[in-house]
Parts: sequence; C-alpha cells; structure tokens
Amino acid sequence: RRKEPALTAESLASDIADILGRFGVAPSRYSGVGRTIASPITGEGLGTVADSTPAAVEAAIARAADAFRAWRLVPAPRRGEFVRLIGEELRAAKADLGRVVTLEVGKVPSEGEGEVQEMIDICDFAVGLSRQLQGLAIPSERPDHRLMEQWHPAGVVGVITAFNFPVAVWSWNAALALVCGDPVLWKPSEKTPLTALAVEALVARAAARFGGVPDGLVQVVTGGREVGAALVDDPRIAVVSATGSTRMGRVVGERVARRFGRAILELGGNNASIVTPSADLDLAVRAIAFGAMGTAGQRCTTLRRLFVHDTIYDALVPRLAAVYRTVSVGNPLAGPVLVGPLVDAAAGAAMDGALAAARALGAAVTGGEAVAAPGAAGGCYRRPALVEMPAQQGPMLEETFAPILYVLRYGDFAEAIELQNAVVQGLSSSIFTTDFREAEGFLSAAGSDCGIANVNMGTSGAEIGGAFGGEKETGGGRESGSDAWKGYMRRMTSAINYGRSLPLAQGVRFDV
Ligand code: NAD
Repeated sequence: RRKEPALTAESLASDIADILGRFGVAPSRYSGVGRTIASPITGEGLGTVADSTPAAVEAAIARAADAFRAWRLVPAPRRGEFVRLIGEELRAAKADLGRVVTLEVGKVPSEGEGEVQEMIDICDFAVGLSRQLQGLAIPSERPDHRLMEQWHPAGVVGVITAFNFPVAVWSWNAALALVCGDPVLWKPSEKTPLTALAVEALVARAAARFGGVPDGLVQVVTGGREVGAALVDDPRIAVVSATGSTRMGRVVGERVARRFGRAILELGGNNASIVTPSADLDLAVRAIAFGAMGTAGQRCTTLRRLFVHDTIYDALVPRLAAVYRTVSVGNPLAGPVLVGPLVDAAAGAAMDGALAAARALGAAVTGGEAVAAPGAAGGCYRRPALVEMPAQQGPMLEETFAPILYVLRYGDFAEAIELQNAVVQGLSSSIFTTDFREAEGFLSAAGSDCGIANVNMGTSGAEIGGAFGGEKETGGGRESGSDAWKGYMRRMTSAINYGRSLPLAQGVRFDV
C-alpha cells in the first residue's frame, strides 16, 4: 500500500491549478470571484468559477448560431478530422484529465481515467461515422421518379450535464454533434465546471491544429439551472441534450416542447437485476458488486434493486453481505480503494434518510454507516448498504443517488419481470441465468421494459457502440452509438422527377 499523502486544500487546489495551467486555461477562469468548487474527497475548495452572466450566455448563443452557418458547409469527413484531433488531445491528456475528474467528482483513479477513455472511444466512433451519415434511396411508386432522404445538420446543440459523468456525457453528445455539422454549447453541472474548462482548453488545442474552426463552435457556459434554462428556452438552440435528474428533465422537456425544439433527455434510473436458479453465482457476485457499489453508487445505471429466486437466496445474499462488510471505502488518493466519497453531505443525508425509511418498513440493513477517511475528514464517506426488503415499497421505488442495493426474494419468473418493471424509471436492467428461455424471455417484448437489458452482466458500464438511454421517466433519449447520431440531424425527404409527365401519387387526377 502506498503511504497516505498529506491532503490539504492547498495541495488539491494547486494540483488542479497545475493541470489546468498546463492545458492553457487562464487562471482567472478558476481562481477569481465565483462559486467555490469543492472536492468530494476533502470537502474543501479546488477553485472558484464565476457563473456566466446573461449577456455572456446570449453572446455565446449568438456565436454558436454564426458558427453553425459555416460548420454545416464543411464536408462531414473533414469535420471528422477535427474530432480525430480532439481524440488525440484527449489521449495525450488522459492521466491529467482523469486526475481532474477524480479531484472534482471523487471517483477512484481507474474510473476517472476510464471516463476519459470513454471520451476517446466516442471520438474514434465519430470519426468513422463522419463518412457514414448516409440517407436512403427509396423505390418510388411513380415512373421516372426517385425518392431519397438526406441528413442535414440540425443546428446548435445545447448540452446540459450532470455531475457524475462530468466529461464523458459531453463527449457522447459533442463528438456526434460536431461530425453531424452542429456547434456545441455546454452547460456543465455547477458542481463540476473545472473538468469542463479543462476539456474546453483541450478542444482549443485541437482547433488550433485543425485551423479554420469557426469561432464559437465549441463553448462552455458555467452556472446553475438559470444558465441551463437560458439554453432551454432559446429557439436558436435546435437540440437540447439534458442529462440529470427526472425532476430536471420534466422541466426541461416541457419547456423545449413549448417552443417545438428537440430534446434528448437522459434522466434518472432505478435499475434492477434478476438472479435466477440457474445463475453462475460467482460471476453474479462480482457483477452485482461492481454494478451496485462502483462510482459509490452514483451512476445513472447503478444497480439499485436485486430480485433473487427463493431457492438461491441463502446461497447468494450472505456472500454479498460479506462483500459489503469488507469492500474498501475511503480516500481515493490515499491508496487502492474501490468506493470513494459521495458528492457532498446532502447526498450522505439522502442515503441516511432512505435507509431509515427502509428500516421503518422492516428492512434488514448491512453496511450504510459513515466511514472516517483519514486525511479527508471533510468528505462524505459511506459504506455501501445491502438492504433486504420485505416487499418492493417506499425508498425502493425511488432513485437515491447513493450506494444502496435493495434485495427482494421472488418465486416465479413472471413475478420477477413484473417487479423489475414496476417502477417509473426505465434505464438499465439485467438477468443472471444460464436458462435460454429465461434469457430470451427477459429480452423479448414481454420482458424488461428498459432501454438497456443485459444478460449475465450488471446494469452499468455500457460500451459506447450501443445507443444509450432509457424509457418512461428516464426520458426516452438515446445517445452515443448505433444510430443515435440521427438525433443531431434533420431528415430531408426528396422526390425527383426525371421524366416528362407529372403522375400524381396515389393515382390522384388533377388535369388542368
Ligand atoms: P441535476 O438534475 O441536479 O442536474 C443536472 C444538470 O441539470 C445540471 O447541469 C443542472 O444545473 C441542470 N439543471 C437542473 N435544473 C435545471 C433546469 N430547470 N433547467 C435547466 N437546467 C437545469 O442532476 P445531478 O445531481 O447533477 O445528477 C444526478 C442525476 O443525473 C441522477 O438522477 C442520475 O440518474 C442522472 N443521470 C442520468 C444519466 C443518463 O444518461 N440517463 C447520466 C448521468 C446522470
């Protein structure tokens, strides 16, 4: 084990300042008058970031709208070259940017760097995509006619992100939007603007190498929900991609719809796994542990509900409880821990409240207590909690953004599917089984109602190649791989008559 370094506010702040300085961020951006950004690791300040003023937001939107007029004319593979250069800058800066993620969000180092790897992966994906934004040629019912569709850039994309994936979620949107021909205006979480400033500086490096990037193509505005609201309400922003709580999405979705804009909503989850009698329990224990405790339970895809068949409950749950009692919790900079801090004291209080509510309903709780992390007294550390519930009720029906796993017995497969689908969220789900009928049933139209349904793996840790998102109150948006790019473009359908007559569709006659 490495010896624990002395952690002081100055050392973390100077660590961040050193990295941001090397990236080329002006010190006034992170050390002037403004919001104090606290590290979840120690609870102390990393820097200060001023909120963008309404005039600055207005100017940024205007610049983005101007950039659109130029960028939409750049050939898509050339736009892909810009994204390739962004990916190169991210590769070179992976360790440093991962460190900024760790300091600002409290993620353990491998997860901080993993988030940057995800950015690199989506850049690679988008580069290839830049040569594949193709439409269809469709058989026409009329003689000497051709029917076709093209995809054109949609316009400025406003990206509003949550604290828990402070950079990866931006990149899922930005890499696609940029190759699709759209400028990107980013409003990061007010808890994590430093990572955003770091990324903005890396993009500026790529832009300098590319040459000829229009001013305002990629911008960051900082602040809380009022700054987000300015993007949401502005008709010059064609697409609003918003990631965060369902509470936020309900407001944003309605406001964007009111002006007939397009919203891509990536909201809360209450994800479940089902463990069936034929499951490989060794594999299930590891998958459940990562799904439920990774990122200290602060992923939208975190495993929060577990349905275990009666016949294996006593074989599985005590093994899980042993893991919960021993998993390493603490300061992610001090040594190899698997579970770092919660984002702030309010998150700890929400966890405590959910556990108290579960206990009042008769639940048996393993873990969940506060953990003292030496050298990091101002951070909020909690041992993950395994909560055996008598029924699916109370806090089990809600997303508490903390490492709480509710466990419930089930008797038959149909009941398990019903329990899994009986929540308002619809993001991620999984089943552990070696029974082909159960696996396929889970993936069928009568199975999981989520946007993500996995077999013999956990609910979290998606790859960028697939479309990411969920149903019901998770918002219905899709980002990242597959054909999610279509959300950043507008479809144009064209019929072309290369004959000398004018046959009307459906045999309609109109002879003048
Ligand atoms: P949050 O809803 O508090 O904030 C998210 C973002 O929305 C922030 O940038 C915030 O400033 C902004 N915002 C809030 N209200 C707004 C409004 N009325 N108008 C405009 N902008 C507004 O969420 P959080 O605490 O940062 O993140 C945790 C939540 O995010 C969890 O619910 C988690 O499940 C969800 N999440 C979802 C996904 C996904 O892809 N589905 C990914 C990550 C996080």
